[in-house]
Amino acid sequence: MAVNLKDGCMARRQSRIVRVGGVAIGGMHPVVVQSMTNTDTADEVATAVQVAQLARAGSEIVRITVNTQEAARAVPMIRERLLAMNLDVPLVGDFHFNGHKLLADNPACADALDKLRINPGNVGRGAKRDDQFAQIIELACRHQKPVRIGVNWGSLDPVLLARTMDDNAQRQQPRDATQIMREAMVISALESAAKAEELGLPGDGIVLSCKVSGVQDLIAIYRDLATRCDYPLHLGLTEAGMGSKGIVASTAALSVLLQEGIGDTIRVSLTPEPNGDRTQEVIVAQEILQTMGLRAFMPLVAACPGCGRTTSTVFQELAQDIQSYVRMRMPEWRLLYEGVENMTLAVMGCVVNGPGESKHASIGISLPGSGETPVAPVYVDGEKTVTLKGDNIAREFKVIVEDYVARKYPRRAAT
Ligand code: SF4
Repeated sequence: MAVNLKDGCMARRQSRIVRVGGVAIGGMHPVVVQSMTNTDTADEVATAVQVAQLARAGSEIVRITVNTQEAARAVPMIRERLLAMNLDVPLVGDFHFNGHKLLADNPACADALDKLRINPGNVGRGAKRDDQFAQIIELACRHQKPVRIGVNWGSLDPVLLARTMDDNAQRQQPRDATQIMREAMVISALESAAKAEELGLPGDGIVLSCKVSGVQDLIAIYRDLATRCDYPLHLGLTEAGMGSKGIVASTAALSVLLQEGIGDTIRVSLTPEPNGDRTQEVIVAQEILQTMGLRAFMPLVAACPGCGRTTSTVFQELAQDIQSYVRMRMPEWRLLYEGVENMTLAVMGCVVNGPGESKHASIGISLPGSGETPVAPVYVDGEKTVTLKGDNIAREFKVIVEDYVARKYPRRAAT
């Protein structure tokens, strides 16, 4: 059955459903937000703290690298620490090269994880590859864990790539190198999934991803992959980069695919500033889904860009203040009020578009531009309700927002 997500969005691609802890991926389930820690997993305290930060920011699944015996031994303790914090966010273990050994040596690690992620290009080299791949799949079956087969172009299986190139050379009209790379990525994912099923992993225990760092490559690869299988697909632009570059590139790539109904989970792979906030990747992922109308996480604050009519910083400060306030209040609001994430706010700089935009929001405020009377009309559900003035506009506006939330959204039943 095809389902229209929103006006203008194509039907969601049909896929199997994979359960990762308490989270369902695929089918018609909402697109899931994932993230990954950058702590040393062997440092169980630091890793548990960062997983908790990511989960509280809204990450619905968190991946941690499991690269050493120490890291594998730390995983059950990380799980315990999270449970002590009342957090049962699903944990995914990221394994490369030695995953078969780490999982065999540390069954408690496998038990504490909700999903395993393996990269077919990094499972093992040469003759060991198939054997080590089989060992990991058998361990996943034994512990009843789903597996994400995550191909990455930086570690594409060289044997498979050579074979794809040889096959291409036999064609009457050989494809170019870019097309061959894309094709090899898809083949790697599909052949690995078929092999995993042959080894006993159920089809509803497999998620696929094929990550590259080029936007057009990612779109082409996932379009191809989406038509050739019904496994749930995890989307992400790998090595997206820092700051606005990483955000823009990820948004461009993921939005095109999501608009076509492709993608069941997403991660935004931002490089944080040194000592920067890791949770930014969660916020960006949520904002991509919310601005596309696919999910609602947080009241959106619309603000005009400002122009020569806003010569003071009052307007920017209020927009920033309200944005921060909403983000700060949301954890409590979410617990207390149903549907509060659908509220919209507008903070506008002057009379040109201010009243109009404000009327379209749940609550909007139109600040005075340069030369305008120093008053700020407030609109609630399209109606002008009050005009604020003086030095306490921000504080009074927040009171109006709190009052609106308490009146408008039904209180959740106490649990
Ligand atoms: S609403 Fe006013 S201040 Fe904001 S961009 Fe438009 S004209 Fe400029």
